[in-house]
Amino acid sequence: MPDESIIKEKDRFHEAEGIPYDSAVCPGCGCLCEDIDLTLNNDQIIQTFHVCSWGLSKFHLGHRFLREPKHAKLVFPTRKEASGRPLPISYEEAYETTASILHDAMRVVFFGLCQTTFDAQMEAITLVNHLNADLYPSEGMLLTPYFKALKTQTTGMATLEEIRQLATTLIFWGVNPLHSCPRLVARYAVFVGGINAPERHMGRKVFYIDPYENDTGSFSQHIPVTPENELNMANKLTEIIEEGSFSIPTELNLLVQSIETSPFVGLFVGRGIAYSHTPQELMETLFKLRNAINKKTPCVLLPVISDFNALGLYFSMIQNGIDPSTSPYIKGDLLSYHPKRGDAIICIGSDPFWFLKEEQITAIKSLDIPIVAISSLQNQTTHAATIVIPVALTGVETEGLAFRMDGIPIYMRKVLPTAQPTDLNALKAIKERIGGKANG
Ligand code: SF4
Repeated sequence: MPDESIIKEKDRFHEAEGIPYDSAVCPGCGCLCEDIDLTLNNDQIIQTFHVCSWGLSKFHLGHRFLREPKHAKLVFPTRKEASGRPLPISYEEAYETTASILHDAMRVVFFGLCQTTFDAQMEAITLVNHLNADLYPSEGMLLTPYFKALKTQTTGMATLEEIRQLATTLIFWGVNPLHSCPRLVARYAVFVGGINAPERHMGRKVFYIDPYENDTGSFSQHIPVTPENELNMANKLTEIIEEGSFSIPTELNLLVQSIETSPFVGLFVGRGIAYSHTPQELMETLFKLRNAINKKTPCVLLPVISDFNALGLYFSMIQNGIDPSTSPYIKGDLLSYHPKRGDAIICIGSDPFWFLKEEQITAIKSLDIPIVAISSLQNQTTHAATIVIPVALTGVETEGLAFRMDGIPIYMRKVLPTAQPTDLNALKAIKERIGGKANG
């Protein structure tokens, strides 16, 4: 190869002028991809490699749901005036007012907490405990049933790397991986070679079980279900695998064949199970299905987690002595929140107002429920909030520990400088000001 072409190749990789920053961790979703290469210039990221469009938005300090990265950072704390206009205030005033709001509330309700560091989650959980607060984790629809199921079902995980190497049958139940964790299929599960699948996706069989057809269908077989028959189908499939039945419904035929001839099966479960009429039973049945498959061939069940450190939140509950499967304070579905007079809402690392039903938002307004948003980015919740406290964007402007969807701890590194506090510091400042005067 002539020297010239080597130089061109090198230049192409570092075509923008700046300082290379290799192997950054993306705080975009539960894949926590740690292979992101960046080029920095003047405290800005001017080039990114390997990242998907969600991650790209994060590294440009914007929302992951946008097609194009758009800067959406909050700049200073605000308090909403009676007219509805946000008035800039100091951090000190923001912390003091938040402490009074939480102290005076009859019931404190925490939303989110799945997109921050483990340290911030540990701190938040002590505050939840101290205030006898209710907590609606942003991944509660998936992980609260998952942790409840673990009370009666054995655990058993595999790393994403093991799935890449070994799995030749992949089942996506109630999840569109392209939308929940965009690089899961490219990096770990489908379009990548492994010991048992050297021909990449050609050597794997992929199925998705969902009421509707979606773009997962471009590389997998759709098995339709309805919210009414989903549990029956999971039970039926378990029975067929367990008993080796010859009477197999046509829609399950290929799936059963594929499971029975596969050296390793990956069963991925997503938030979609919440739309079944019986999500808890469905989750438990999917664990039973995994056990039945496991008697014949190794199989793992993994939750597909969109919010990058949702597992960290559940680990922090356990470390704080809270059993997420039995605690009446840990809720599953955000949509089950019933606003009451005397509530105060505090949102950290999430945008619950994007998900809440119109009638919930109307009730929050009409009951004058104060809302505190601790957030890096502008969103629907910060627009609705009484107090907004801007913080550094976790994983880009601050370092810290997070847990990948398979439970592997990944340490996120700080890429950009900021003068803003971390959400951990904001929580500590609020807790200090509440002191020992918790309502309860
Ligand atoms: S798949 Fe997730 S972690 Fe990986 S680059 Fe995309 S958003 Fe980031």
